Amino acid sequence: MYESLDVRNLYFAGTNTHSLDWRKSAGGFIHGYRYTVRTLHRIMEWTHHGVQWPAVKFSNPLDLLPHVLKRVNEASDIYQMFSEICDVIIFGEDKISSEYLESFPCPLVSILPHVSGHKVPGSVMVLSMEYGKNFSGVGKDVFHGKRAARDPREGHKASLLHPVIYYYGKLFTTADHIHKHKQWVLPVPDRIVSLIEEFTTKFDAERSHVLMFRRFIEDSIGVDMRHWFANQCLKLSLTETNIPLGCQTPSLPAVTDFISNTVNATPTYQQPLVELDVTNNHRNYIKYLPRYVTKLK
Ligand SMILES: Cc1cc2nc3c(=O)[nH]c(=O)nc-3n(C[C@H](O)[C@H](O)[C@H](O)COP(=O)(O)OP(=O)(O)OC[C@H]3O[C@@H](n4cnc5c(N)ncnc54)[C@H](O)[C@@H]3O)c2cc1C
Repeated sequence: MYESLDVRNLYFAGTNTHSLDWRKSAGGFIHGYRYTVRTLHRIMEWTHHGVQWPAVKFSNPLDLLPHVLKRVNEASDIYQMFSEICDVIIFGEDKISSEYLESFPCPLVSILPHVSGHKVPGSVMVLSMEYGKNFSGVGKDVFHGKRAARDPREGHKASLLHPVIYYYGKLFTTADHIHKHKQWVLPVPDRIVSLIEEFTTKFDAERSHVLMFRRFIEDSIGVDMRHWFANQCLKLSLTETNIPLGCQTPSLPAVTDFISNTVNATPTYQQPLVELDVTNNHRNYIKYLPRYVTKLK
């Protein structure tokens, strides 16, 4: 990437690298190619100097989720270089811990170990900011009445820039990437979720964004990521061998009336739980998780 095809060790930076994202992203502008230049630097750090791509490490997905939310709400690289620069989450062998690589070129995800120095032992998630695939183009009315998706289950119909997360049980190959549909940023994943757009690009709504993200991660890696109160954790630790992650980290104070939408936040189109059998609820949680994500394989 950004290296001459016929002169070895000749690299390009700046607006001329826009050839790779021409008519797709913002690499022809300073606000875009400042990130592709950094990408080139990081690739060369590993390939020439043995310095790994910087990564944030998380021991569990409860800590990962706030980081993902922070990135979709604050990151300028995946926002400006939409569909070209992605964030990659590499899950460890335990399927719980992860490494978070920011600002990685989407077209190079298939050869990530080779250009970043990070091993990929199992599953990966890729976060990308994308416009709706049929949003603009010759003869398209970008202001049509139904341009904005409002129902969280219809994030895949969003037109404006919105976050999309892909989940792959194992890293796809370069051949998969080359043969992907040309409108797709990445090859068809095992699971995918698109969050609905937000006019001010604040993707922090409790149900439309945070809950969608959380349930997507829960569904993909099969863990219950809810937080629990101390008395619930006590009961689960006495009755279950599989203690939820939320009970393995500092828990919320015990309260008698703990049935609240904070603990069991459910979308408005679902009936809220009125009673909670803690043991059964945790045991069957993943099995009965409401799935608004598109399962593609
Ligand atoms: C009107 C206009 C408005 C813009 N507004 C914005 C904006 O608001 N925000 C933004 O982010 N970007 C904006 N851009 C884009 C931005 O200015 C350019 O992308 C940026 O200046 C390109 O920088 P560069 O160093 O990659 O290339 P250049 O500035 O084009 O530098 C390339 C250099 O290489 C030299 N060169 C070419 N061939 C050779 C050769 N064979 N041998 C030696 N030297 C050679 C050229 O003389 C030139 O000095 C704008 C561009 C234009 C034209």
